[in-house]
Amino acid sequence: MTYSLVDLRSDTVTRPTDGMRRAMAEAEVGDDVYGEDACVNALEERVADLFGHEAALFVPSGTMGNQIGMRLVCEPGQEVLGDAEAHVVTYEMGAAAAVFGLSTRTVVSAGCRLDAAQLIEQVRPRGDWHLTATAAIAVENTHNRGGGLVQPLDQLQQLWDWSRGAGVAVHLDGARVWNAAVASGVPLSTYGRLADTASVCLSKGLGAPVGSVLVAGAERIAAARLWRKRLGGGMRQAGVLAAAGLHALDHHLDRLADDHARARTLAERLGADPSRVETNMVVLEDVAAPVVAEAARAQGVLVGQVGPRRIRLVTHLDVDDAAVDRAATVLGDLLRR
Ligand SMILES: *Cc1c(COP(=O)(O)O)cnc(C)c1O
Repeated sequence: MTYSLVDLRSDTVTRPTDGMRRAMAEAEVGDDVYGEDACVNALEERVADLFGHEAALFVPSGTMGNQIGMRLVCEPGQEVLGDAEAHVVTYEMGAAAAVFGLSTRTVVSAGCRLDAAQLIEQVRPRGDWHLTATAAIAVENTHNRGGGLVQPLDQLQQLWDWSRGAGVAVHLDGARVWNAAVASGVPLSTYGRLADTASVCLSKGLGAPVGSVLVAGAERIAAARLWRKRLGGGMRQAGVLAAAGLHALDHHLDRLADDHARARTLAERLGADPSRVETNMVVLEDVAAPVVAEAARAQGVLVGQVGPRRIRLVTHLDVDDAAVDRAATVLGDLLRR
């Protein structure tokens, strides 16, 4: 299938490939609320293994994975500490407070890069009569509003090592942790072992139509299963969706390197600093975002406006070399004006 639009707004816009659609059609399914869907069970086992955790839970969205994940490690009235640009506090509709009664507190980090010491310094102890206790720290890798940056492994390790002694949990928002692993060469299992709970998306760079997976210890995942049902996320013959995720893991993981190379090409051609392109995103600063976005749209190139003077371009499965060339030509022309 070909689409005339070049859609660089997000890597969520991919359509399932023909092979993925076949895998979905042929999926062996059952009622997953009874735990009887073979495809869902296979996906959960596989993702748990990849990240070195005991268990996993297939959920409809990354938001549900993150919010249940944080609830598993934070009680109502306690707080989750994270960075000010984190997806969990920016784009999840205040769910931590609105749904779960969790307090959140944020720190502004330089360029969204994880600074373990800066977070640790802000942690408030349990058992104090005045202070809201910090139960968990949320980290995001890659960082969305950080332009797809890969969090430094030494900082993740430092935070993890400290957290064990402090009794503070670490939640990983790993919507694009696949991109981080491909870009850095750090195994998924390493990222997994540096988190108590992690949510990973199948519907971003991996190109599945729906779904995320929450990984954690077995007891926590048993509790997560109840939360998912409580929230209305218990799905029945969800194997048709899990099959897309399994297909994506087989066929779309290594190719993320192509998305990263194409993002660098876009940056070079548009005069953005390619050294700031670590994965599949290019951020253009100091541009009249609404004007450029509208003019580009008129020529069949869709871009993300992430601020009044900031545009984001995301490469993905449905963006090939020809699409990059077309986008670079259209946007290059508009930026020179
Ligand atoms: C997309 C994304 C999510 C989850 O989004 P959903 O639309 O709820 O699937 C979570 N974290 C980050 C960093 C994301 O980019």
